[in-house]
Amino acid sequence: MPDYDFDIGVIGGGAAGLTVTSGSAQLGAKTLLIEKEDALGGDCLHFGCVPSKTLIKSAHVYHQMKHSQKFGLPAVDVPPVDFREISKRIKSVIDTIQKHDSEERFCSLGAQVEFGRPEFVDAHSIRLNGTSYSAKRWVIATGSSPVAAPIKGLAQTNYITNREIFYLDRLPESMIVLGGGPIGCEMGQAFNRLGSEVHIVDLAGQILGKEDKDMADMVMNVMKDEGVSFHLNASVEEVVDHGSSKEVVLKNTAGETTRLSAETILVALGRKPNIEGLGLDGIGVESHRRGIKVDNRLRTTQKHIFAAGDVAGGYQFTHAAGYEGGIVVSNAIFRLPRKTDYTFFPWCTYTDPPLGSIGMNETMAKASGIDYAVWTEAFKDNDRSLAEGEQTGLIKLILNEKEKPIGVQILGPSAGDLLAEWVAVLNGKVKLSTLAAAVHPYPTIGEINKKVTGTYFSPKIFSEKVKKGLKFFFDLKGRACVP
Ligand SMILES: Cc1cc2nc3c(=O)[nH]c(=O)nc-3n(C[C@H](O)[C@H](O)[C@H](O)COP(=O)(O)OP(=O)(O)OC[C@H]3O[C@@H](n4cnc5c(N)ncnc54)[C@H](O)[C@@H]3O)c2cc1C
Repeated sequence: MPDYDFDIGVIGGGAAGLTVTSGSAQLGAKTLLIEKEDALGGDCLHFGCVPSKTLIKSAHVYHQMKHSQKFGLPAVDVPPVDFREISKRIKSVIDTIQKHDSEERFCSLGAQVEFGRPEFVDAHSIRLNGTSYSAKRWVIATGSSPVAAPIKGLAQTNYITNREIFYLDRLPESMIVLGGGPIGCEMGQAFNRLGSEVHIVDLAGQILGKEDKDMADMVMNVMKDEGVSFHLNASVEEVVDHGSSKEVVLKNTAGETTRLSAETILVALGRKPNIEGLGLDGIGVESHRRGIKVDNRLRTTQKHIFAAGDVAGGYQFTHAAGYEGGIVVSNAIFRLPRKTDYTFFPWCTYTDPPLGSIGMNETMAKASGIDYAVWTEAFKDNDRSLAEGEQTGLIKLILNEKEKPIGVQILGPSAGDLLAEWVAVLNGKVKLSTLAAAVHPYPTIGEINKKVTGTYFSPKIFSEKVKKGLKFFFDLKGRACVP
């Protein structure tokens, strides 16, 4: 047996890599972690979830201040935003979380942390900063980067992506967002609320392409009412950098041209896997456009090399990266053949209102050709939502032909948190009747989860058949009032 330096080597110190590192090291595997940046934490901490949600909160508070009268409060004349202060707050939140993701912490768990860009020299060894390191097993967890689409003039234009947007030294007066996906919509709404004039452009006929169109359209309508302009079914023909202003030339499906002009362009057109420079071709690790090829145990085309997180091209979320990191630990350290299962995988887009989803939505159910039924409940009928002034949206419960729940979408306040109950119900195969009978505290937004099951059971319980049976057995007298 060859004697390797490490039991496991992990490349990439983001959500996936850190999960594998902490699990492996704490289980007694001699673990090496390599990160190219000078701090651990990955995109989520530095350029993704954490800064975006911090920014969204600032934008939300500012929006509430501007709409204080909606809550019966005096009107407030709010001064313009100083974006440097928002950036400062973002950095302070990151700094606090960074302590959990420090080199010292991982060293205390037993892992060796090295910084730099490694390259595989053979299937078990990498070269880093002039030193060779070998490991019995490797994990590639290098994440993803924004796609720079091949649009005429884009490469010559000074645009921004998620790497720059949280660290601007001033609020742009106007912004064109290329891409109406989760990042484009979250950032578009936040910047519009902070005072930028925002245009969102997408090639598709709807924003948030993974979601049901009716739900995505509701998000779009809220954002439109707030002042965001949308340009759908629009292909970007050209981008021109005029210095202080940038121009985007769009063509619609009828071939008509529109020219937009703004101070800043945010490119949010999707993600590409970070595989450059790793030397994967030389060691037989294959990849496709979306990411490294993996089987359902996350093994690459070299069985002792795993890939997890964004770089594997599946669901691109921090909780997916963490989940996949756990699958790798099971396979690589415990040697258990644990497989990925995304049947009830939840996600949420943090627009206001947010849009959360788990399992199948209607689009997926239709595409799979199954018989399904949809039950809905609106937030305008939830007492707490009314008190909070957040009554836009609804919950959709999708049942299959056996009347078993196969998916839930929630557009409304705290949608991501409301999904937590469905995570337990769907994964635990809890009966809908159990959820319907379980007492929920009043008044809470979470009551909507129970209420939608009530909507499903109601016609069954209060049916003519049941009424007739009760009348027959217990001689009930029937209606006391006829309107
Ligand atoms: C604006 C934005 C908002 C987001 N919001 C959310 C959200 O709200 N919720 C959610 O679940 N997800 C969100 N995401 C997605 C989430 O950030 C990613 O899915 C997650 O970070 C993926 O984790 P990862 O470990 O695969 O990659 P990363 O976290 O990107 O980690 C990869 C690490 O590998 C390092 N690396 C790259 N190449 C090399 C190399 N050659 N050598 C050594 N190290 C290397 C990188 O520097 C990085 O530290 C958001 C993303 C963006 C961009």
